[in-house]
Parts: sequence; structure tokens; C-alpha cells
Amino acid sequence: MEFHLDIRTLAVVTVVLSFTYFIGLILIQRIQEYIPGLLTLAFAILTFAIGFTLLSFGNDISFWVSKVLANSFIIFGFSLIVHSLCQFRIAPLVFSNVAFLIFPIACFLLIYYSHFYVSTTSRILVISTYVGLCSLMSAIILIKGQANDLKLAIWLLAGIFIINSIFMILRSTITLSEPDINNFLHAGNIHQFAFIMIIILIIVLGFTFTWMINARLVAAIYNSSMKDSLTQIYNRRAMDEIIPRELARSHRHNTELSIIIADIDHFKEINDNFGHHIGDKVLKGMGSILKHKLRRQDLAFRYGGEEFLILLPDTNVDNAVKAANKLRETIEKQRFASGKKGKWTASFGVSQLHDKEEWDSIIQRADEALYQAKHSGRNTVVSSKSD
Ligand code: GH3
Ligand code: MG
Ligand code: MG
Repeated sequence: MEFHLDIRTLAVVTVVLSFTYFIGLILIQRIQEYIPGLLTLAFAILTFAIGFTLLSFGNDISFWVSKVLANSFIIFGFSLIVHSLCQFRIAPLVFSNVAFLIFPIACFLLIYYSHFYVSTTSRILVISTYVGLCSLMSAIILIKGQANDLKLAIWLLAGIFIINSIFMILRSTITLSEPDINNFLHAGNIHQFAFIMIIILIIVLGFTFTWMINARLVAAIYNSSMKDSLTQIYNRRAMDEIIPRELARSHRHNTELSIIIADIDHFKEINDNFGHHIGDKVLKGMGSILKHKLRRQDLAFRYGGEEFLILLPDTNVDNAVKAANKLRETIEKQRFASGKKGKWTASFGVSQLHDKEEWDSIIQRADEALYQAKHSGRNTVVSSKSD
């Protein structure tokens, strides 16, 4: 049974698909904030669309346009894909520089094998080598890129690029073993499959890109829903999600865990005497201190109006008291207005998680310690008596 796909039809399908994806990607960019690499990808696909349009005219138009120019557009599309992936995945631009640098050489060879030494086989070899190289670089960029993207989408797309580069090696080998092709529109199965590969690549590119963009958007919304907009630290909602996890981890692995409750002293007076905007400024300052003066693994939450909760994994009560004192001393040095009047302080209650202790109990003990701190004159750290 002979298997035959019509190359002109395949070229037309590729054109329709490319134009549709080009418009789709442009529309995605229009409704979103700037996504690095997306517009470059859209233009890469447009370049494919132009290249395959010219290719589909076959021998009805000038050879230079339907072969040399068409193929130049197609391979340039691949270098643009490399560039767009570098931008999107945050990878070194050296990859796209290599692609852009080799592009004129590939074009020169295409012209050479069209005018000086006419050989369709050699032209296919040039195109396959360039496309294979770009596909391989695209896979590397996808895997090595720094951006935090959906792993499944990355591997799916990288997989398609790897398959495409292997296919290009296969295509080169088969082309070399065949007699020189007179008319590309009647070329063998492997060249028909090259179109199928491009079609799959465009579909997977468009699909995985929208998938990754969507995942980035969901992650951004999720992160902002977990942060308090004023202090930029975790909010109550995040607390409800993170604390049971940390508590269970500490019980399971039998590790130490301490908490600190911090409460700004006489905050009502600050609001009353200086206005709410100054009160907000103090709260912002507190958020910034909590973000910068704690260890990476410590988690700070806005617990209430001017109350904050800090979770310190792998920390016993003595070290938690030291951490609280460091915060207290830092706060003491802050000023929201010039002079002695602009001073503000905070009080701290500390407790360490006991064996099998519930959340309500540890928080109550920290609260009692805080109460003691307030009653012993504020601007101080007190740890739970039962620790
Ligand atoms: P103490 O030293 O005993 O803690 O006294 P305090 O004045 O700090 O405590 P109190 O609980 O009486 O006052 C808390 C104040 O915090 C009252 C409330 O209006 C203010 N507050 C709560 N949330 C915010 C906020 O987001 N911005 C501002 N500016 N004030 C807030
Ligand atoms: Mg207070
Ligand atoms: Mg309070």
C-alpha cells in the first residue's frame, strides 16, 4: 500500500493553522500584562505562515520566491522561536544569538545550492540541520530556563522539540540516501512527515504557551490572595492554610517549633495622635522588619489589626526569645516622625510547641505571655511559663 500526503495541501493547512495561532497569541497579549517572549512567538508563527504560503505556490511562481525565500522565512521562524523561549523561560540569550548568527550562513547556503550548485538534497540538508539545531536549543532553553512554569507543559513542549530534532537527523540521513529530488511537491514520505511535525509543533507550542501563561496567572492571583495588601506579609487566610501543615510536620518529624505573637504598643494612641495614615505607615514598617529580620524559613503573618504571628520551625523557646528580642530592638530604633514622639515599640509573647499539643493551646500560651509583657511595662519579650 502506498502512503501519500499532498504537500501543497499540507502547506495550506500549516498556513491556516499558523495564521490562527498568530492572531490567538496577539489577542492573549492584548488582554494581559506584558508577557516576555509571547509577541516574539506570535511573529515566529507569522513567519511560518508567510513561508508556507510562499511554499504552497510551488512551481506556479518564481523558484526564488517559492523555494529560497519561503525556506528562509521558515528557518527564520525557528530562530525567532529560540529567541521567544529565551525571553519567556528567562534563559541566556546566547542561544538565540547562536541561532541569529547561523541564520545568514544558512541563507547563503540556500542561495548557493539554488543558483551555483543546484541541489534540492543539499537545500533540505541545510534546512534540516538548522531546524534540528534550533529545536535542540529550544528543548534546552525550556528545561534550563529560570521562570517558574508548569513542569508538565515544559516537558511536553521540550519533548516535541527533541522529537523534531531527531526527526531532522533522520530526514537528513534518508535524504542523503535518496536520489536528488527534482520537484519538492512530489517528494517522498519523510518530507510529507516534516509538515506533519511542523503542524504538531505549532499546535503544541500554542497549547502549552497558553497553558503556562494561565498557570502563571493562577499562581499570581493565589499569591496575592495570601498576602496582606498593607504589610505585604501573609494574611489570616494563608495562616489557616500554612499553620496546620507546619504543625503536622513538626509532630510527625518530632522537630521543635516555636511561635511569637507581636503586638504594637499603644497603637491606638499613634492613630489618634498622628492619624490613620501614620498608623498604616507603622504597620508597613512592621511588615518590612518581619520580612527582613527573620530567617528564610520563618513565616510571618498579620494576625489581627496590629498583631502579628511568627512561626519559627526547628526553633526552641530560647532561640525564639532571641529572635523576638532582635525584632524588639530593631523596632525600638525606628521612627515614624522626628524626635522622641515618633518612637514606637512592640511587645512579644513566645511559646514552644509541646508534644502532641494542639494549635489552640500553643497560641493561648503565647497570648498569655504577651499579656504578661504588656503588664510588665511593654517593649519586652516574655516566654510562656510552661515552656
Ligand atoms: P496595647 O499597647 O495594649 O496593645 O494598646 P493598643 O492601643 O496598641 O491596642 P488596642 O487594641 O487598643 O488598639 C489597636 C488599634 O489598632 C485600634 C485600631 O483602630 C488600630 N488598627 C487596627 N487595624 C488597623 C489598620 O489597618 N490601620 C490602622 N491605622 N490602624 C489599625
Ligand atoms: Mg497594641
Ligand atoms: Mg492588639
